[in-house]
Amino acid sequence: MARLEGVTRTYPGGVTAIEGVDLTIAAGELVGIVGPSGSGKSTMLHLLGTLDRPSAGTIRINGHDVARLSDRALSALRATTIGFVFQQFHLATGTPVLDNVADGLLYSGVPLLHRRRRAEAALVRVGLGHRLEHLPHELSGGERQRVAIARAVVGEPALLLADEPTGNLDSASGGSVLDLLRELHGAGTTVVVITHDHDIAAQLPRRVELLDGHVVRDSVLEVQR
Ligand code: ADP
Repeated sequence: MARLEGVTRTYPGGVTAIEGVDLTIAAGELVGIVGPSGSGKSTMLHLLGTLDRPSAGTIRINGHDVARLSDRALSALRATTIGFVFQQFHLATGTPVLDNVADGLLYSGVPLLHRRRRAEAALVRVGLGHRLEHLPHELSGGERQRVAIARAVVGEPALLLADEPTGNLDSASGGSVLDLLRELHGAGTTVVVITHDHDIAAQLPRRVELLDGHVVRDSVLEVQR
């Protein structure tokens, strides 16, 4: 699903956030990328999500060498292959839940009626079939994150990237969001969860630990060894 070889990302100004990272994430994995603040997690998320390009090294997403794609081809790859979930939910305020999710298909060429039908199915899938016409501010934090997850998966992306998805939630809603991510993984989606929280990471089958831009530990490689 994703293969990083010798990936370095240096920002203008000279900070090297990720250095010489080799990492392979197979289709169907559920992986936690864990590390303290400043270790390079967000940079990894942007690189895996093709929102940013490496300064050196190669990144393949679903077999495509990201550096060789035009901006347009890259946007298309992102729209068809990758779903994003963020700590801050990023829902449109004043827009009903159903339309928030349907808008996840805006750039897919799916007609409005079908976008809405698929949005409803995605909301049923995350347990919010009874909240279609609610506005985001009428929902709890955990419910809002479920809406954001429904929007991320409505296009059935192969890869779901979740950036601190439980960071704004109490532990009960955080636990149920994590259960939902596990369910999506069980249904075949490759899921990458970025977190600084070792308790969350401990619940995931594979953990990749970042420190100062380097992978210092990968639980899967340890098991293989
Ligand atoms: P984390 O998500 O683990 O907190 P980041 O990937 O955000 O780590 O940051 C890693 C390092 O890169 C930090 O030292 C940070 O200050 C730096 N950094 C992140 N984004 C930028 C940017 N856009 N410009 C310059 N430096 C950045």
